[in-house]
Amino acid sequence: MKFSILSDSLNKMESTTKRLELTDYLVELFKNTPQDVVGRIVYLLQGKLRPDFEGIELGVAEKLAIKAISKSSGITSKKIEEEYRKTGDLGQAATIILEQKTQTTFLVENITVERVYETLFKIAKLEGNRSQDMKMKYISSLLNDATPLEASFILKILLGTLRLGVAENTLMDAMAIAYTGNKENRTILEKAYNVSSDLGKVAEVVATKSLQGIQEFKIILFNPIRPMLADRVKSEEETIEKMGEKFAAEYKLDGERVQLHVKGEKVVLFSRSLENISQYYPDIIEKIPKSIQADEVILEAEAVAINENTGEFLPFQELMHRRRKYKIEKAVSQYPITVNFFDVLYHNGNSCLELEYQERRKLLEKIVKEDDYSKLVPMTIVKSENDIEDYLENSINSGCEGLMLKMLDKPYQAGARGSHWLKLKREYRNELGDSLDLVVIGGFFGKGRRTGVYGTLLLASYDEDNDTFTSICKVGTGFTDEYLDQLYQILSSKVTIKKNPRIISEMEADVWFEPELVIEVVASEITLSPIHKAAKDEIRKGAGLALRFPKFTGKIRVEKFPEDASNNQEVISLYKGQKKIAHGKSLM
Ligand code: ATP
Repeated sequence: MKFSILSDSLNKMESTTKRLELTDYLVELFKNTPQDVVGRIVYLLQGKLRPDFEGIELGVAEKLAIKAISKSSGITSKKIEEEYRKTGDLGQAATIILEQKTQTTFLVENITVERVYETLFKIAKLEGNRSQDMKMKYISSLLNDATPLEASFILKILLGTLRLGVAENTLMDAMAIAYTGNKENRTILEKAYNVSSDLGKVAEVVATKSLQGIQEFKIILFNPIRPMLADRVKSEEETIEKMGEKFAAEYKLDGERVQLHVKGEKVVLFSRSLENISQYYPDIIEKIPKSIQADEVILEAEAVAINENTGEFLPFQELMHRRRKYKIEKAVSQYPITVNFFDVLYHNGNSCLELEYQERRKLLEKIVKEDDYSKLVPMTIVKSENDIEDYLENSINSGCEGLMLKMLDKPYQAGARGSHWLKLKREYRNELGDSLDLVVIGGFFGKGRRTGVYGTLLLASYDEDNDTFTSICKVGTGFTDEYLDQLYQILSSKVTIKKNPRIISEMEADVWFEPELVIEVVASEITLSPIHKAAKDEIRKGAGLALRFPKFTGKIRVEKFPEDASNNQEVISLYKGQKKIAHGKSLM
C-alpha cells in the first residue's frame, strides 16, 4: 500500500476536529486499505507500532530527528532548529525544509506503508552503543525517499507528536461502517477491544471475517483485559441510594492493581493501564503458581506493601521503590508485599465476565489457596448505612483507603466505569472529598534548600474533548527532599525544547515537560480562575477552574497514562459538588 494514501488521509484528518468528518476520512482510508495492512494502519493512526501492552516504544529524541533531517536535506541542524522554533512542530518544519530540497532533486521511489512500518519497527528494537547512529541512518533513508508531506508524518509518528484527535471510539465507528455497513455495530467491536486491548487485532478480524468473526472473538490468555472501574460516592447514604438493599463491601486496598495471567508456571502481570509489569514483581511470578488451583486463569488483585513484622498494610508510595530497572531483588526483600485477590475474569478456557459478582467471588475462593503471601480481599455483605460505616471503620483501621461496594448480581464490565462498582473513601485531609490525578506539564527551579531541583510544578487536567492538557494549578507543597529528587530524576528525561502543542497554559514555566507523568494532589477548594485553562468557559465565560492550596500526596501514579488523569468533567463535578455543600451550610 502506498504510504501517500495514508499521509493524504492524515493530512485531511489533521485539518478537522469534527468527529463526523474524521469518521468519514477514516472510512475512506479503511476502504482503500488491503486487509493484511489494516492492523498496522490502525496502530500508526494511534501513533503506535503495537498494542500498548507489548511495550514497544519508538523512543526517538528531537535532537536525533533533527540530525536525520539535516543528513537527508544537507541543511544544517541549526537552520532546522530555527525553523522548528518558528513553526513549533518538527514535522511541519521538515516539510518546509524538504520542500526546498525537492526543488533540486528527484524522488527515487514510492515508499509503502509496509516499508515505513518495518523501518519504524527496526528503530524501536535497536539497543546498545551504536543504536543512535543506526536509528539516524534508518530515519534519513526513509526521509530521502519520502515526499515532504510523507516525511512530516513519518517524523510525527517517530516523535509521538501525531495528534489527530481520533479517539478509540471514532476508530471503531469507522471500522463498523467500513466493514459491517452499520455504525451501530461499534458496540460489538468495543466488546472485542475490551477483552483484547488490541485495536489492531480487532480491525484485522473485522476486516477479514466481518461481524461474525468479531462475535466469536474470545479472551486470549496473556492479552490484558481492560479493567472495570468504579464511580465515586461521598457517603453511606448515597451508597444505599445507588446500590439498593444488599450488596458486597470489600476493603479498598491502597496498592497497585495487578492483572495476573497464569498458565502453569508461566505468569504475566499487567498494570491498571495494561503495561506489562512482570519485571517489578519477580516474587509474584515465583510464588503465585503454588497458590492457584486452576490450569489457566486471569485474576485481578491489589499488590500491597506490608510491614513484614506486623503484617500491616503500608501506603502505596512504598511500592514505588519497586519501579526500578536494577537491583530489583534487593527491592523485593526490602519492600515485601502481599497479593490480595478480588476478581476472576477467565478460568480454564472460559470467560467469567458474564458471571454475576457473587458467582465470580465463589469461584475465586475456590481457585486461590490463601497463605502468608496470597490472600483474598476482605469482603462482607452489607445491608444498611450502619453496616457500611462499621466496615469502613475496619478498613481504615487496617490501613486501607476505604471501601469498594459491588452489586451482587452484576457481570464484570471490562473497560467501563459504571455504577455496579462504587468507591467510598475517607479522605480526612481533603476538603474536596477526593484527590485528583494531574499531569505534570511544567517546572520551576527551586530556591534555597530546593536549588538544583524543581521546587514547584505546573499541573494540568485532561480535556477529553480536545485531547489536550489544561493547566489547573501550581503545586509546591507536600514534597519531601526524597520526592523532589525522585521527581527531578523522572522529569529530567521529559524536558522539551518547545511546549508540547497539547499543553494549554497561559502561565509560563521555567521548563516544559512532555505531558506524561501523573501525580496525585489534594486541595482545599476549586475556584474560578482568569489564568488557568481547565474547563475554560464551562462555568463562566472567560474563566477556567483552578485548585486552591493544592498539596502533593506522595503518590506518583506511574500506572496511569496522562489520558487517565482527572478530566475536566470530573473537575466540574467536584466544583459543583463543593458548591452544593457550601450552599447547604449557608442555609442552616
Ligand atoms: P483511585 O484513584 O481511587 O485508585 P482509579 O481511577 O485508579 O481510582 P477506580 O476504579 O476509581 O480506579 O478505583 C478502583 C481502584 O482501587 C482499582 O483500580 C484498584 O487499584 C483499587 N482497589 C483496591 N481494592 C480494590 C477492590 N477490593 N476491588 C477493586 N479495586 C480495588
